Amino acid sequence: MSYSQQVFDDLSARYAYQPEFLQAVQEVLTTLQPLLDKNPVYQKNKILERIVEPERSFHFRVEWVDDKGEIQVNNGYRVQFNSAIGPYKGGLRFHPTVNEGILKFLGFEQIFKNSLTGTPIGGGKGGSDFDPKGKSDNEVMRFCQAFMLQLHRYIGATVDVPAGDIGVGGREIGYIYGMYKRLTTRYEGVLTGKGLNWGGSLARTEATGYGVVYFADEMLKARGQSLEGMKCAVSGAGNVAIYCCEKLIEKGAIPVTVSDSRGMIYDETGIKVDVLKQVKEVERASLTRYAELVPTAKYTPVSEYPQGRNAVWSVPVDAAFPCATQNEVNLEDAKCLLQNGVKVVSEGANMPSSIDAINAFLKSGIAYGPAKAANAGGVATSQLEMEQNAGMTAWTFDEVDAKLFNIMKGIFENAYETSKEFGEEGNLVLGANIAGFRKVADSMIAQGVI
Ligand code: NDP
Repeated sequence: MSYSQQVFDDLSARYAYQPEFLQAVQEVLTTLQPLLDKNPVYQKNKILERIVEPERSFHFRVEWVDDKGEIQVNNGYRVQFNSAIGPYKGGLRFHPTVNEGILKFLGFEQIFKNSLTGTPIGGGKGGSDFDPKGKSDNEVMRFCQAFMLQLHRYIGATVDVPAGDIGVGGREIGYIYGMYKRLTTRYEGVLTGKGLNWGGSLARTEATGYGVVYFADEMLKARGQSLEGMKCAVSGAGNVAIYCCEKLIEKGAIPVTVSDSRGMIYDETGIKVDVLKQVKEVERASLTRYAELVPTAKYTPVSEYPQGRNAVWSVPVDAAFPCATQNEVNLEDAKCLLQNGVKVVSEGANMPSSIDAINAFLKSGIAYGPAKAANAGGVATSQLEMEQNAGMTAWTFDEVDAKLFNIMKGIFENAYETSKEFGEEGNLVLGANIAGFRKVADSMIAQGVI
């Protein structure tokens, strides 16, 4: 049995109750064997056994009082997965589905993604099962303050630097940062995604969505194609989806769908980004509101989706951008996209495709950009925010955007060259995993058994 299989089997026996974590590990380990075969030093140093366990993990109780005066209790977490190449870095997710297994999957992915950016940041992730939806601003503020009352002990500008993720946007980062400052009296770059007046970076809000499109464009360029004129399916209607649509339109492509947890919008004339921003960023409303405002939009509720399917992927398109959540593209969805002639899939969400969906994309030979490469623009720009904070300076939008573009281009080239080196030219899953892993593994060996 191969070394990677051995480690995976052992991990599966111990963490059978964390299926998303196992899925993320499986996706990485199954592609590393060619590197491990060539370099026995990784097995000798038990790198796989070490890299699949977080260095440290915290679980804490978060108590707060709602608007009716009732005491509420939530779970808070921070998983500090790997600091071989820099301080832990990774977002906070507030969603009722959050548990340790989900955060371990996200933290594990983050190690390799952060390594791929070429910047010195380690991997971590955190969050809570708190649901900001339907809560008043005051309730969100009280929850965020209670959350930071616990979290502040474990983080710091050179220790662990959280950011946003699902359910954590500018409003939440503001309340969390305010409490950190009050508790520690330090004004430092301990969080990224901050407001522009108080240490945030221009282009951070846009970065993940823009980066996903830059990555798609690089994949297409290498094949002599371009996004111009392509019809695109985008899922999600949050931070990543909105700025993915915005950049697609700038590139002359036509995003025709967006979705949220309740339903999807299809508009063959193209998604109206200004209306989407108004509905999601300002009103925090459902997409039914978008359909009220845009007469050409057709709304389909989740209850009318075909059984076990995400209807976004049934729309015939040239390009697909999953930007909502994990496992939102299954094998049937992938087959449907391929049958309809999709040419490129670039992942904005983390682990949006199941393993058999990924295999179907790879087998078909289309341009497939796995999440840890394609969506790395968010964390890369977070690192740029850290750099600006450390230098007590602020760069222009164009400066940051140009750096973001170069980082995405660099990630594509690194993953592509690595896929070639291991005889699987164009397999960016293998290329990204090996390139991301190698740097971290070599750093772990250099730092000894600690
Ligand atoms: P947001 O909270 O801003 O938006 C998430 C969107 O996805 C919402 O439209 C939400 O709908 C929808 N969604 C969430 N869960 C589900 C679900 N179970 N089924 C269907 N739709 C769902 O989050 P982001 O845009 O920041 O994050 C989206 C994805 O991108 C996540 O996988 C995240 O990990 C990943 N990512 C984000 C980065 C960032 O910089 N923000 C960086 C890299 C990756 P609703 O509002 O109805 O819940």
